[in-house]
Amino acid sequence: MRHTTPSDIAEAKPAPAADAGRVTPMMAQYVEIKANNPDCLLFYRMGDFYELFFKDAEIASRTLGIVLTKRGKHLGEDIAMCGVPVERADDYLQKLIAAGHRVAVCEQTEDPAEAKKRGAKSVVKRDVVRLVTPGTITEERLLDPGRASLLVAVARRRLSDEIHAYGIAAVDISTGRFAVLETDQRGLAVELARLEPREIVCPDAIHDDPELREFWRDVAAPVTPLAREGLDPASGERRLKEFFGVATLDAFGAFSRAEIAAAAAALAYVERTQLGARPPLSPPVREGMSATMLIDAATRANLELTRTLAGERTGSLLATIDRTETPGGSRLLAERLAGPLTDPEAIGRRHDAVALLVEVPSLREALRRDLSRVPDIARALARLSLDRGGPRDLAALGAGLDAARGVAAALLRQGDLPDELREAALALGRTDPDLATRLSTTLADELPLLKRDGRFVREGFDPALDELRLLQVDSRKVIAQLQARYAAETDCRTLRIKHNSMLGYFVEVPQAVGETFLREPWRAVFVHRQTMSDAMRFSSLELGELEAKIASAADRALKLELSIFAALTEAVLAQAEPIKAAAQALAVIDVAAALAELAIDGGWTRPQVDDGAAFTIKAGRHPVVEAALKRQGQPFVANDSELSAAGKSRDGRICLITGPNMAGKSTFLRQNALIAVLAQMGSFVPAQNAHIGVVDRLFSRVGAADDLARGRSTFMVEMVETAAILNQAGPRALVILDEIGRGTATFDGLSIAWAAIEHLHEANRCRALFATHYHELTALAERLDRVVNATVRVTEWNGEVVFLHEVVPGAADRSYGIQVAKLAGLPPAVVERARAILSELEKSEREKPVAALVDDLPLFAVQMRKPAPAAAPPAGPDELREALAGLDPDEMTPREALEALYKLKRLN
Ligand code: ATP
Repeated sequence: MRHTTPSDIAEAKPAPAADAGRVTPMMAQYVEIKANNPDCLLFYRMGDFYELFFKDAEIASRTLGIVLTKRGKHLGEDIAMCGVPVERADDYLQKLIAAGHRVAVCEQTEDPAEAKKRGAKSVVKRDVVRLVTPGTITEERLLDPGRASLLVAVARRRLSDEIHAYGIAAVDISTGRFAVLETDQRGLAVELARLEPREIVCPDAIHDDPELREFWRDVAAPVTPLAREGLDPASGERRLKEFFGVATLDAFGAFSRAEIAAAAAALAYVERTQLGARPPLSPPVREGMSATMLIDAATRANLELTRTLAGERTGSLLATIDRTETPGGSRLLAERLAGPLTDPEAIGRRHDAVALLVEVPSLREALRRDLSRVPDIARALARLSLDRGGPRDLAALGAGLDAARGVAAALLRQGDLPDELREAALALGRTDPDLATRLSTTLADELPLLKRDGRFVREGFDPALDELRLLQVDSRKVIAQLQARYAAETDCRTLRIKHNSMLGYFVEVPQAVGETFLREPWRAVFVHRQTMSDAMRFSSLELGELEAKIASAADRALKLELSIFAALTEAVLAQAEPIKAAAQALAVIDVAAALAELAIDGGWTRPQVDDGAAFTIKAGRHPVVEAALKRQGQPFVANDSELSAAGKSRDGRICLITGPNMAGKSTFLRQNALIAVLAQMGSFVPAQNAHIGVVDRLFSRVGAADDLARGRSTFMVEMVETAAILNQAGPRALVILDEIGRGTATFDGLSIAWAAIEHLHEANRCRALFATHYHELTALAERLDRVVNATVRVTEWNGEVVFLHEVVPGAADRSYGIQVAKLAGLPPAVVERARAILSELEKSEREKPVAALVDDLPLFAVQMRKPAPAAAPPAGPDELREALAGLDPDEMTPREALEALYKLKRLN
């Protein structure tokens, strides 16, 4: 490590007061570099510190809680300053990045001695070597091992005046993943919710589009605009071809223009932030439009798939099911959970792999044993390719590749493997077996974090290195001997030879002895360097010579070690592709083995997933609630669910669940959604039996949530989410609605819930679970043929309500709200009063029951039976439609468009 040198200090010395208004050369350099990186905090290297100045210093001191000081003046104004030690820079970077900042790291690019040669006032050359942004980090300490670190670029292409196609490119430079897809504006929000990017970039035209302002504000990641130059599809294609060194992109598949523009924007940003270093990105892979189950942000949050409503991983479905052994496996599991598949065949392939590992426990155990030794090789490889790797990254690769051999061998011994595992085993076989051996024989057992600290090459590997190290050890012995000799000669037993970065080696003696050193005869031997409060420090010629010898041996040893490091890195990078494939294969095997382990532990079963419209769950359970109850020693009551289309129809059933508070309605609703997600992500499910026709879109509106930050009340949020569901759910969707209409007056709420059920039944025609407090709604089952009633059983014992958590056909007789309130500890007087009011209310309702309204409202239901808005146009000629079909807005002049509009109006 380099330490602060006197020239650094001189360089930063405040300008004398008389110079107010003048700019010091160092400040001039700072200002220039900062001007080139206006949107980043500038970490300006000075000796052992990164210093921040002016506004940057204020922001950093606030965010990091470090002291803000002043250093001199710039144009007559105080310069605010704060600094972070280089050694601990990662910790500070992490905090700044988490707070949404970008940081430009500016290093000294020459030795201060060189600068001095140019003149006393010359400033050490500095340059920004890297931009650290939330989506482009690679440091182990800055990354969450269980989560992908995605940079997402968004581009768009106009299809017509109103409609745009959006291209999305997702890049993880810490693992090399590179995916692209195209969607529409609605899909954009859904895909961003699935990908959970750490950072989003997009051309400034999209960023500044007034129509998208609210959209960007709601996105849960920092959004960076990019200047649009060079991001058009033609230049984008060129950029991609150059990066991957191919003449045509055809080899990677067919991409849309929006996808190419997005991929190029992502690459442009990666290149900008990495400043020439090249991350090991895989060529872009196109994700099919409908390959994954669409789950919007509200549904993800409600179901607590990867995070709880409070934003924690603990307590989420992901945390409950994660039995993986490796960081790569954990990330893949999260990715699969976030994007369940919709192709039954692909889902079946994943189930096959889990099934084998459930059936053969010895194989599963052997694999998990080997996997537990696999470090994060994908990220180690990325760091090495970006020249940011250390000895531990090389060792991680060695250990990972070695364990991979064990994994591959165990799989191949099994013989007949399902596709997913066979392909993974083959990928593991493609790495060079000698590389792991070479790494382990070259590297020492104990390794420093940084290569510049040296001592990472194993003893006995290189005789020349061993010799230099011996010299260093010997020199230390010689120093010890010298200390003993000086002590004897000067008759000072407390004389010590010490070392620090300012003085190098020096002799330290107590003050009284020191005084004698200043006189003859010792004056000829010792040169005074420093007086401390109770000691004095001296150098000597002999010590100086020894120091030079030690330093040169250390220098030469480090140079040698660095060249060995470079050779090993080169050998690793030559195999980057097979190593990346092996990392992916290990993750796939880890996920399959982890899901098998989970299935065995929890008694989960393989679901049947097909293209039909079934939804039959026998004895289903909620994995997270079950786990929580288990910790308290309580059992979970399993429940059945039947939403399958009946007969030849593909229209799903709507199950209307009534029941008292706290009975378990929400749990039941969610467990069915979670079982569908688990089944389609390729997992076994917590049920005795499950048959699911692929769900292409999942909606869940559960519980009430305020969104005050966006100025929406509970009821508004509820209605916005309900509107999204009723407008978008198609016949293959699964809809979970809990307590719709609860946030407003009883009759308003009842009417909304009522109309929503009718709409689901008549227009959406999808499978749905609907929990409600409005018992009146159960009457709908008599009118709408696919609505079935279910209730959660409770019984009363000694006036207390007892929850049985059992879902049975039929409707609840009443709410038991007052009993639950009593359980919750409401004062007895309030409970009694509530009982009295309830009985009065019930009496008046008996005189005009709300349920009777069902018969009063035939029109509403009949109206709903009209063809759904999304349904095909009515058969037979329709002049208006024909005329409309004949128009091509892209080919029309404004005048022709206006004429056409008048014509259409006349036809109507
Ligand atoms: P509310 O109407 O007040 O929102 P709810 O009917 O939706 O209540 P839940 O929140 O689903 O009730 O469940 C309440 C509690 O009951 C859960 O926290 C859980 O501890 C327990 N519970 C729910 N379902 C079951 C079950 N199937 N087996 C055992 N315990 C259960």
